[in-house]
Amino acid sequence: MHALTDLEDGAILRVVAERGGQPFQARQILHWIWKHGVERFDQMRNVPAKLREALASDHVMRATSIAKVDDANDGTKKLLLGLHDGETVECVIIPDGERTTLCISTQVGCPVGCVFCASGMFGVRRNLTAGEIAEQVLVAKQQLGTGRRLTNLVVMGMGEPMLNLDNLLPALQRIHDPDGIDMGARRITVSTSGYPRQMERFAAADPSWNLAVSLHAANDELRSKLVPTATSPVRDIVAAAHRYFGQKGREVTYEVVLLEGINDRPEDAVALVSTLASMPCTVNLIPWNPVAEIAASKGLRRPAVGRVDAFAEALRNGGLKVTVRRQRGADRSAACGQLRLRQLTGT
Ligand code: SAH
Ligand code: SF4
Repeated sequence: MHALTDLEDGAILRVVAERGGQPFQARQILHWIWKHGVERFDQMRNVPAKLREALASDHVMRATSIAKVDDANDGTKKLLLGLHDGETVECVIIPDGERTTLCISTQVGCPVGCVFCASGMFGVRRNLTAGEIAEQVLVAKQQLGTGRRLTNLVVMGMGEPMLNLDNLLPALQRIHDPDGIDMGARRITVSTSGYPRQMERFAAADPSWNLAVSLHAANDELRSKLVPTATSPVRDIVAAAHRYFGQKGREVTYEVVLLEGINDRPEDAVALVSTLASMPCTVNLIPWNPVAEIAASKGLRRPAVGRVDAFAEALRNGGLKVTVRRQRGADRSAACGQLRLRQLTGT
């Protein structure tokens, strides 16, 4: 069974026409799905019952269903979504003052295999479809109810967005569409572990989303230990990010997941400064969120606050703009990929 959320506008028009419906009815259906976020056929009140029934005979409304909701004490809400083939992915709602940010996934698992990340532990199972990606926003909005509005979207969940651009780009268009979810491009940030060619393609697409690059280290040898499948040198990744800024006028954020004694040493700060100081950018330091299985097998540690502050200071002294991410959702499995990991390992 196909999900209506997986159909592009042209396909919805066709499916509706094949069942005797008119183009304006196809547009009404699109509104119900994406603007009003309904999840049942009978909620599409102005669509004739006969057309609804014809659609329901071989379509479902949505491609995902909530398998688990995990509330942290700080208000962070993690959703585990079940997919039609039994796979699961996560998205996370993060309230912070006036802001409410949603973090969404693009793949089931991840092929990149960064040593510190739960999402990459078992490789990638498959790409999410455009509908499965965009639908995460509908599900999150429903969870929020009328009390809070989603203000920001980050594509920082499971998976490497640049390796699923075929589905990510239409999903972002769907999320941005003023006739649907209507989220401004400035409020949307896509994070990549660095694929220069795909970053070029991302840059060629309209409109201008924000780009974040997970750099972790400016030194190629160290970076290749943290991101073992990385094939592009830091120089090429930073050049692609800089071109993105040139084309789009959007300052790039570089993310650095800090691991004690590995990439939080004074010389690591020096390398970042010499690589990035001439670029208009911000460095976001993310103290590693421990994943028990990884901490035990690889001996990785989250640095103490003092070390993080000293690292931030060294970058600032070198002329970089720096932000430090607070730990969120810490009492549950906070970092993306951990809820699914707990499900897979039965812990
Ligand atoms: N694959 C993309 C987007 C998803 S990961 C990327 O790597 O950028 C989003 C961010 O979460 C990345 O910066 C990644 O390094 C970080 N991350 C992954 N696991 C983490 C963990 N256990 N603790 C802290 N940050 C983590
Ligand atoms: Fe994949 Fe990003 Fe995790 Fe690396 S950090 S394994 S690229 S999801």
